[in-house]
Amino acid sequence: MLTRRDFGLASVGLVAAAAGLRVASSDANEETMTATTEAPFEITKTPEEWRKILTPEQYYVLREHGTERAGSSPLDKNYTDGTYECAACDLPLYSSETKFNSGTGWPSFYKPLDGAIGTSVDNGFFTTRTEVHCRRCGGHLGHVFNDGPPPTGLRYCMNGVALKFVPKQEKSTG
Ligand SMILES: [Zn+2]
Repeated sequence: MLTRRDFGLASVGLVAAAAGLRVASSDANEETMTATTEAPFEITKTPEEWRKILTPEQYYVLREHGTERAGSSPLDKNYTDGTYECAACDLPLYSSETKFNSGTGWPSFYKPLDGAIGTSVDNGFFTTRTEVHCRRCGGHLGHVFNDGPPPTGLRYCMNGVALKFVPKQEKSTG
């Protein structure tokens, strides 16, 4: 039986463990300070190899940081239940549950799946934006802005051509 006292001791243990984790992660931060911003990605291919598996439009957006024409992606108006994957490496990036209509003409989400994406600072001509890419292959997806809806207040503005929509599967009865 777990008594009230035992439960109290368990909580103390949890706090200690959390404190230990915090120390460990601050050590890790110091190490990564010296690392380059160009992260080594799990999946790397030469431009020739990417061209073989991507369409010209996908290559332009994912590998050359291009932007598709607003309203050109059928995924902008797609609100079916499912998952949006990286068009280059199939990593699940966003759930349909976090998709919203931003009115921009680009598929928009207020939150990515855990550990799905990475960001970098993108210094454009007159603005500084936060670039969003696939954590696994580094493929460029779009940008994130601070004018999104609750609960995050973020707007992940994605190129539909960089995403692959996988409809939610009904549980098989057979
Ligand atoms: Zn990817």
